[in-house]
Amino acid sequence: MEWLPEADPGHAEDDGTLSRVLCGRIAALALVVCSILLMVSDLVIPGDRSVPGLLVSCGASIAVGVLAWWFPWGRFGRWTVLAVIPFAFVAVGLTWVYADRNGFNYSVTFVVIFALVGLALPRWTALRLAPFLVLAYLVPLFATTGPVATIGLGSAVFVVPMCVVLGEAIAWAMHRFAIAEGEVAEGAASIQQLFDEAPIGISKLGLDGRLLEVNRAYAEIHGYRREDMVGMAIRDLTHPDDREENRVKIERLLAGDLDRFHLERRSLRSDGRIAWVSLNGSVVRDAQSEPVFMIGQIEDITERHALRDQLARNAVTDPLTGLANRKLFMEHLDMALAQAETRGRHVALMFLDLDRFKLVNDGIGHDAGDRLLQRVGQRLQHALRPGDFLARFGGDEFTVLCEVTGEEDVPEIVSRLRTSMATPVSEVDFEQFVTLSIGVALSTTATMLPSALLRSADIAMYQAKRSGPGRYVVYSPDGDDDAGMSLRTSNELHRAIQESQLVLHYQPFVDVERLTVIGTEALVRWQHPTRGLLPPAEFVDLAEECGLMVDLGSWVLRQACRQGAAWAAAQSATGARHRAPSMSVNISPQQLAEPGFCEFVLSVLEETGYPADRLWLEITEGALLRDPTAAIAILRALRTLGVHLSIDDFGTGYSSLSYLKRLPVEALKIDRSFVEHLETGSDDRAIVEAIVALGRTLGLHVVAEGIERPGQAIELAARGCHVAQGFLYGRPVDPSVIGPSLPVSISDWLTGNRLTAV
Ligand code: C2E
Ligand code: MG
Ligand code: MG
Repeated sequence: MEWLPEADPGHAEDDGTLSRVLCGRIAALALVVCSILLMVSDLVIPGDRSVPGLLVSCGASIAVGVLAWWFPWGRFGRWTVLAVIPFAFVAVGLTWVYADRNGFNYSVTFVVIFALVGLALPRWTALRLAPFLVLAYLVPLFATTGPVATIGLGSAVFVVPMCVVLGEAIAWAMHRFAIAEGEVAEGAASIQQLFDEAPIGISKLGLDGRLLEVNRAYAEIHGYRREDMVGMAIRDLTHPDDREENRVKIERLLAGDLDRFHLERRSLRSDGRIAWVSLNGSVVRDAQSEPVFMIGQIEDITERHALRDQLARNAVTDPLTGLANRKLFMEHLDMALAQAETRGRHVALMFLDLDRFKLVNDGIGHDAGDRLLQRVGQRLQHALRPGDFLARFGGDEFTVLCEVTGEEDVPEIVSRLRTSMATPVSEVDFEQFVTLSIGVALSTTATMLPSALLRSADIAMYQAKRSGPGRYVVYSPDGDDDAGMSLRTSNELHRAIQESQLVLHYQPFVDVERLTVIGTEALVRWQHPTRGLLPPAEFVDLAEECGLMVDLGSWVLRQACRQGAAWAAAQSATGARHRAPSMSVNISPQQLAEPGFCEFVLSVLEETGYPADRLWLEITEGALLRDPTAAIAILRALRTLGVHLSIDDFGTGYSSLSYLKRLPVEALKIDRSFVEHLETGSDDRAIVEAIVALGRTLGLHVVAEGIERPGQAIELAARGCHVAQGFLYGRPVDPSVIGPSLPVSISDWLTGNRLTAV
């Protein structure tokens, strides 16, 4: 309905506006139409009336009607409209005078006035007004005489019902409009509430790029008050780096290229901070499709963004040092190789390893060890040239990428790195000198694979490490290639210890005559993820070389004691009165030399509850020969704990008898090589006899290992050796095969398919 003003949601609270305007205009229309009818009828119907007077009076009515049409009814309250009514009466009066008291004219004017009253008092229905209406209509007519009265009274028959019908129609129309208005107002109010309370930020943006209105969330995201944001330029609220993209999107939106757009951009907050927002922009167009304003909906995604950034950073950053991690390093290596090639230069890949870090770490504690690594990372970073790239490769290994003209550049870079470690790393709780073993590999051809370069540097570092702490070696292809394999294994072994890839298998000791199980020896294996179950020969020496033996051995001792305690518990649960089975654990020379080893053994016994007098530690002669005095001291200390000691692989070392006498050991384990040909070789027989005799002289037990055939067992027993170990009695097996409690007799051990060859 174009002849009515559009509902303005901004003024929804001003109810009745529409109906007042509507009724005002109905009245105006009625006045004009009736006046025209009156004029026409008076001119057509013959009678003695003054034509000019008629024209004046009708013209005045029409003029009033036209004015009434344009009258701003909506602006005035209901009472103001009522106040207009007297003026309408004046108009009627004028009409009365100029229309020569024309009764018909009177009737029409009355109808118009009635419409106005109905308009002003919408709740008074015309039916209720009807008695007053009749009175109001008739009284002036009774007061007069002549044709006016006659026509007027006659016309009362249809004027009054007409008034009633018209009044009712007005009342009905106003009622409908009141409802419609209420609905519009209600709808507008709920839209406004939605806008105000929406959890996402909503803005109305003018075509000039300034904010027309924003909701609460929008203001909160930007840290402003709502009212302060009105008039702000969106450009000033957008991060400089995102402005261009934002502008282009808005331009395309207004041009009609886009219906809406989505953008993740940074908003500038009032406090200077940045808020990441997810923005959906759209445009509101008029009936002619011309843009009127834009709507922006934003969601604060700062936290999500930070998390995403963090995750992305974590994926390529070492959390401890903040340096690049292995993944990022490998990516850089790819790029560096490609770039160096185009510039006709080489890539130098340096593999840095902290010397004796394991010992340092154990000495100062892991927390301090972590801080040491952080400081080292910082120092290395500062020592590098711009453009060089440093990463923490894992553990105490760092890698550096440098672009060089050739090998001649390497000493200078190495010297920088070394100089950075010239002073000790000082923290409140420790002070530590750090030396680095450095392996360097130079890219030779463009087609060189990053992994090959890395492997070369790895090998060179290993060579450097072998030649002593603080050394560096530049890889040469003629170098020992086995070293590469070993080093890979060493890195893997390091991980294996941390990631519990090690397992213990147990092999029984047997009383040869009674055929009972005296105890077991714990033998370590490595459940390698790709190479399968590895025997100790493949990694124990390596662990010694790389300083991992202490960690490895500690794990073995703890695990073996736990297992021994579990078997002892299972045995006592059955009510058996046997002593707990003994547990033999091999101890490496490095473990023995480790300060605090004795305390460590004690702590393991306490922790696991395994009785000290059931634990046997097997030490090789080599370990004892390194530093005999120290070895004797530590062995004595171990004996005071109640732990038993035996010499493993006895006969392969060079222990002198006098030395052996001073050792607090209680058993000798004859090396397998001497029992191998016991049935046939007279030399072996003689050696075994000599060892058994030696044991008897020194008061030591003698144990034979590597018994595979019954003949060997018989020979042994004949020579007075009553404890043996060997495949004949049982191979080393996984504890799950043995079951919850250790069998007492070897036949029990052997039966039930318990044994699986390993
Ligand atoms: P070992 O302590 O002398 O252990 C005996 C080795 O002989 C074991 O080999 C065992 O499987 C093998 N063996 C036992 N009976 C027979 C037999 O009848 N015939 C043959 N041919 N071999 C037999 P394994 O398990 O490969 O261990 C080899 C060595 O590795 C051990 O010799 C020990 O010196 C070392 N080792 C094993 N576990 C550990 C450990 O946890 N710590 C340390 N430091 N060394 C360990
Ligand atoms: Mg052994
Ligand atoms: Mg042995």
